[in-house]
Amino acid sequence: MENLTPMMQQYMKVKEENKDCILFFRLGDFYEMFFDDAITASRELEIALTKRDCGNNQKCPMCGIPYHVADTYISKLVEKGYKVAICEQLEDPKEAKGIVKRGIIDKVTPGTIINKESTDSSDFNYLMAIYFDDNIVTLAYSDILDGNIHFTKIRYSNYEELEKKIENEMIKVSPSEIIYNENKAFSQDFLSNLAELNNITLTTSENIDTDEHLKIINEKEITSELKDLKSFKAISMLLSYIYNYRSENLTHIKNAYYFEVDKYLNIDSHTIINLEIHKNLSTESKRGSLYSILNKTSTSMGSRLLHSLLERPLMDKKEIINRQEIVNSFYNSRALQNNISNLLKEIYDLERLIGKLSFGRANARDLVSLKISIEKLPEIKRVILENDSKVLKSMVDKLDTLTDIYELLNNSIVEEPPILITEGNIIKVGFDAHLDEVRDNRIKGKKRLIEYEIELKEETGIKNLKVVFNKKLGYFIDVTKSNLKFVPDYFERKQTLTNSERFITPELKEIENMILSSDSEIVNLEYEIFNRIRLEILDCINRIKETSKIISEIDVFNSLAIVAYENKYVRPNLNNIGLIQISGGRHPIVENSIGLENFISNDTTIGLGYNDIQILTGPNMSGKSTYLRQIAIIVIMAQIGSFVPADEANISIVDKIFTRIGASDNLYKGESTFMVEMNEVSNIIKNSTKDSLLILDEVGRGTSTFDGLSIAWAVLEYISKKIKAKTLFATHYHELTELEGKMDNIINLKVKIQENKDGIVFLRKIVEGKSNRSYGIEVAKIAGLPLELTNRAQKILSNIERERENDSEIIEESLFDMSHEEVDSSYEIFIDKIRNVNVNMLTPMQALTKLDEIIKEAKDL
Ligand code: ADP
Ligand code: MG
Repeated sequence: MENLTPMMQQYMKVKEENKDCILFFRLGDFYEMFFDDAITASRELEIALTKRDCGNNQKCPMCGIPYHVADTYISKLVEKGYKVAICEQLEDPKEAKGIVKRGIIDKVTPGTIINKESTDSSDFNYLMAIYFDDNIVTLAYSDILDGNIHFTKIRYSNYEELEKKIENEMIKVSPSEIIYNENKAFSQDFLSNLAELNNITLTTSENIDTDEHLKIINEKEITSELKDLKSFKAISMLLSYIYNYRSENLTHIKNAYYFEVDKYLNIDSHTIINLEIHKNLSTESKRGSLYSILNKTSTSMGSRLLHSLLERPLMDKKEIINRQEIVNSFYNSRALQNNISNLLKEIYDLERLIGKLSFGRANARDLVSLKISIEKLPEIKRVILENDSKVLKSMVDKLDTLTDIYELLNNSIVEEPPILITEGNIIKVGFDAHLDEVRDNRIKGKKRLIEYEIELKEETGIKNLKVVFNKKLGYFIDVTKSNLKFVPDYFERKQTLTNSERFITPELKEIENMILSSDSEIVNLEYEIFNRIRLEILDCINRIKETSKIISEIDVFNSLAIVAYENKYVRPNLNNIGLIQISGGRHPIVENSIGLENFISNDTTIGLGYNDIQILTGPNMSGKSTYLRQIAIIVIMAQIGSFVPADEANISIVDKIFTRIGASDNLYKGESTFMVEMNEVSNIIKNSTKDSLLILDEVGRGTSTFDGLSIAWAVLEYISKKIKAKTLFATHYHELTELEGKMDNIINLKVKIQENKDGIVFLRKIVEGKSNRSYGIEVAKIAGLPLELTNRAQKILSNIERERENDSEIIEESLFDMSHEEVDSSYEIFIDKIRNVNVNMLTPMQALTKLDEIIKEAKDL
């Protein structure tokens, strides 16, 4: 450090305090980066990496960016997940004695950036805060441009449950940045794992001291129906982070909405991913997700609301029916759907306009957008009221059409203002008397100028005398060479050109003053008036937010109606007796990708007691997974208040949906796939209730056949006896179909196929009964494997089947053993079990687990 130049020492000091950020260090006209920051930034931004002398003849890596284009580069880095700290010169370098004073003036992070380069305004950009207190964990999140805060307390009985709940919220909300405080009572390593897997930037924050956090909440006048100080801690952490480098009072960040996780349908993180609720599994993009199918909204506010609805489907029947009623009212009138869509298309993102206004980032054009949007409100209200639906009426009766704000904007802001708010031409004539007066002076000055030119011509007799303006000289009198002899004495020479001379006079100076001073006064006044209007609008922020909320609701429910109409969905009935009955059900995403007419619909009845658990067998590619997912998706759609892809549906409201969908496993969490599978199964078993819906697809696939079969068997038995949740279980293990006779709530389903001499045809119809075979070889034929190869496979299969027939009694017996809970001669069975362990088949991990199991069992004997 001592060896460094004084400036580099200054750099090192600032960097030390901002280790987690890339430091933009202002040097003259550039922001420079040094050392590792330079290496990272030059790689990410594709700019040249150079070197700089940093003292003692040592060179350090450096790269730089001209200050006036910094914004673009900053957002590029931030969108890649980096945090950027901006260190400015705090005094004029010319006047500085010694080293120029520098300090951090702003930090831009993924969760706090407001001018994203690649903004898709239908996306939220959430900043999440998780506060770990000794005995309570609270969580809050907000999109700082929208300014709404959502927060909750996380209830948990053990650490594992807490982790799971946090993971669920993370996947649902999908924030770009999470701040949290370190607390010794918790191991928080899982946060960094999850953050890395999901491209979330993590930031640790100081612990909040209670007085400070109360102050923040009070100062911001945060309003919330819940006044529980403890759960405000995450909010205050969130706010302190946002305000850390911002002095403005962000008036739009105001309302905090409390939500209770358990009041909503609990869809765990894997289910959200597997069912492609927000994103397509293979492309990771929105296209091909349920969200994109349902999204026919016209405004970004609407599409963001749709996203939130899908995050938290309802469980309260009344609330769902309320939503259905609204969707139904739009559904009933195609004309209304179209009218509303078209009107909404002309409405800008009110919520974010207000955010920009509050951040001081809005210009006069944004105010024009605001005006144009508000202008449509009365029409929207009228169109909806014309349609005499009671529910819609009560919805728009509350719609404040903000006419006073419209008047204000319409009277003040010109129709086509410039982008800059510092150059005038923003405010209409007639809005401000003082401004008009100054503008009049300017016009008077200009008139006087014309008169003065005529007077001078008359006085001097010079016909081509001209009064001209340029930036350097201001106003001057131009006289050509041949006329110089007529110039009077009081003309003061300013400049000589080849063909003419330029003069000024005291009176011309006076006129010039009149014009130019009013010019700058006009610019200043307009800027002042703009700010006054801005504040006046911010005063109405709650009204505008309330209106945006209603508009986004209209948009979302209208969108659900349009989709229902165009895709032929029906309004489902709802019940609380545990019965799900669907006739002609379809998978909304698959039918959309293969064409509505190509999809084969299926009926479902589950929850009658005897059929609570359904085991589905059928060949590969026959449509088992699609069928399973389709039921879960239909239930989710029903619980957000949407219509569903079916001819008729009666849906029982479920409390949780779990899915375990096998085979296509990625290395999520870096654990072996079988371990992941068992983790998920364990989570499902521990957390599901009789009101839950379980989708188990090929459970037990990740290990050897008998292991897997035994686990699948035991899982089904457990659900059948202990949980009794509605369960759909697709499997290749045909042995499992035997459970139908053994348990009173398990039945078999199969996918119908047609066999002919060339192989099989998929009919994609689900019917009662069981498949005896996997038809793997037939599927291989369809896939185009050479005939010679598939014939050979057929022979091998026959041999294996013959051998197995001889062994089958033994297998059956051992499976039956497992289905009996009480065993008489437990000691003998225990010894048998040890004898049967085949150490060569086990991985070291499995061997250890086995050993542990045996020891435990021995202790119980
Ligand atoms: P499985 O799980 O039995 O292997 P999938 O459910 O993955 O089969 O279905 C395989 C493919 O078959 C799907 O990608 C889809 O294109 C098609 N498919 C599935 N169900 C249907 C259906 N009901 N109607 C039309 N095509 C279907
Ligand atoms: Mg499948």
